[in-house]
Amino acid sequence: MTETVAVGTISHESNTFAPGETTLEEFTFVTDKDVIDSFAAGRSIQGIIDVLTERGYELHPTVGATALPGPTVAEHTYERIVQAFLDRCAGVELAGVCLDLHGSMVAEGTPDAEGAFLRRLRDVVGPDVPIAGALDMHATITEPMIETLDAITGYRTAPHTDVVETGERAARLLHSSVATNRSFRVGWEPLPMLLAGERSETDAAPMTDLIDSLPRTDPSKEIANVDYFLGFPWADSPHAGCHAVITGGEAAHAAVQATAREYATAFWDCRDTFDFTTEAHQPAAALREAAQSTVRPVVIAETGDIPGAGGTQDFTGFLATIVGSDDVRDAVVAAIVDNTAVSQCMAAGEGATVQLALGRHYPETDPFECTGTVRTIHIDGPIDAVRLDIGSTAVILVDERSNYHRDPDFLSTFDLPPEEQGLIVLKSGYLSPAWKDVAARRLFALTRGYTDQVLARIPYERVPRPIYPIDENATWP
Ligand SMILES: [Zn+2]
Repeated sequence: MTETVAVGTISHESNTFAPGETTLEEFTFVTDKDVIDSFAAGRSIQGIIDVLTERGYELHPTVGATALPGPTVAEHTYERIVQAFLDRCAGVELAGVCLDLHGSMVAEGTPDAEGAFLRRLRDVVGPDVPIAGALDMHATITEPMIETLDAITGYRTAPHTDVVETGERAARLLHSSVATNRSFRVGWEPLPMLLAGERSETDAAPMTDLIDSLPRTDPSKEIANVDYFLGFPWADSPHAGCHAVITGGEAAHAAVQATAREYATAFWDCRDTFDFTTEAHQPAAALREAAQSTVRPVVIAETGDIPGAGGTQDFTGFLATIVGSDDVRDAVVAAIVDNTAVSQCMAAGEGATVQLALGRHYPETDPFECTGTVRTIHIDGPIDAVRLDIGSTAVILVDERSNYHRDPDFLSTFDLPPEEQGLIVLKSGYLSPAWKDVAARRLFALTRGYTDQVLARIPYERVPRPIYPIDENATWP
């Protein structure tokens, strides 16, 4: 008899400092066959589907739900997605469940959104059905997740270039449990530590060494998978921390747990070596560095307002500094969200001069008052976008938050071939691989916003204290 495995994705990285809430409108939300047909490509669930199909399982697709990182997920949205998932598992005879989760979702009233979902899923499928999860490296691991999941694996690259492979690994773990009737249990060691992705890219020390140290498997200790999870510092979560997580044989759980402790120790021991992976400066200093650079283009990531980490992408304080700076000539700034300004530019038309109140300063709401020329209007892409020239600064305005500017090619459509620019300022954290190829020199500008890199400036209330690095007295174990 063919065995059936339920598969699905629930993925959101929730920035609890960003105002408002993430609702179903912001989600790509599909069910049943559409999960396979129109959703899976490029995600961990694709790897899950590929491996399980190859091993002869019948797939039972449930839900595919993902949204750009953003504010806390609305209660009714969370409930709708979770219930859709549970409904599709109820009454189905399953050999296993293989999930693609982010791991750092927060819903209104449910700070551990994945943990709460998994407990309900466990109630639906029963105690004996193995559940495996492929998670983002920036997952916030919690006790309900450890109790409920039989196997856990996560991305080993940041920027994340092994998303599909991570799904494949999760599916292989599930298969090894189902095919051999072997029970796994997860060992876990949380560390009282906050760590931003901009200090832990995997092509730089110490992450390179930590990732290299992960054994693939260790039969002598029944270890099937080892991963580090780094948490997400822009959530005021009672579960905040970094984690060593190990999947191993249930019979050898004491050895598995001891190994988790060893890996956590290795991580903790290099806690003071996590530093910005790109040269980081205060905003004005970053502009001075860029002006003095002998190579071009210089790419500055404005790290306080990262849409890919839930930032609102509408802070214009840094833009105002750029426009007012005597050091800066011919800068390109991309992309700022202001749908009113986009509409005004469209109404005025290409070539028109417009007076705009753009975005807002952080933390105040004052916009940046400016006069500019509408150069290009784009309404044929995934989002509406306008190039506005303010003096010698070209600004790309967009009508909604997105990772649209993660691929450098979009600039060419505005007559701004990226390689030919002197200075490009991006609403970004660590750069995508494509931008790294373009940038002759990379800088971080440590601006304020909902993705502030200076964690000591963030008004945490629920994060357990003391915690490294904002509390000097943080200790472990
Ligand atoms: Zn991530």
